[in-house]
Amino acid sequence: MAKVRGAIVVDVEKCKGCGVCVPACPSNVIELNKEVNGKGYHYSFMARPEACTGCTNCAVVCPDGVITVYRIKIPS
Ligand code: SF4
Ligand code: SF4
Repeated sequence: MAKVRGAIVVDVEKCKGCGVCVPACPSNVIELNKEVNGKGYHYSFMARPEACTGCTNCAVVCPDGVITVYRIKIPS
């Protein structure tokens, strides 16, 4: 069985730092950055990228649709 790993890309300038995606991730991947984007918002990022399964929960709950999820199969 091939394992599936995920990765997310956050559209940093469109993120408003609401934090809704942080508890939505069952793998505890996402945190809000200490840095801010051009609008002064603490945008989300992958704090623990190795734990992402590509489940898409974060993208579904983001009210602004700024998260894109990628899934990759890793041959075992
Ligand atoms: S795709 Fe799933 S595991 Fe990956 S960051 Fe989003 S909610 Fe977490
Ligand atoms: S839910 Fe969307 S807008 Fe809110 S912090 Fe997460 S990525 Fe940013």
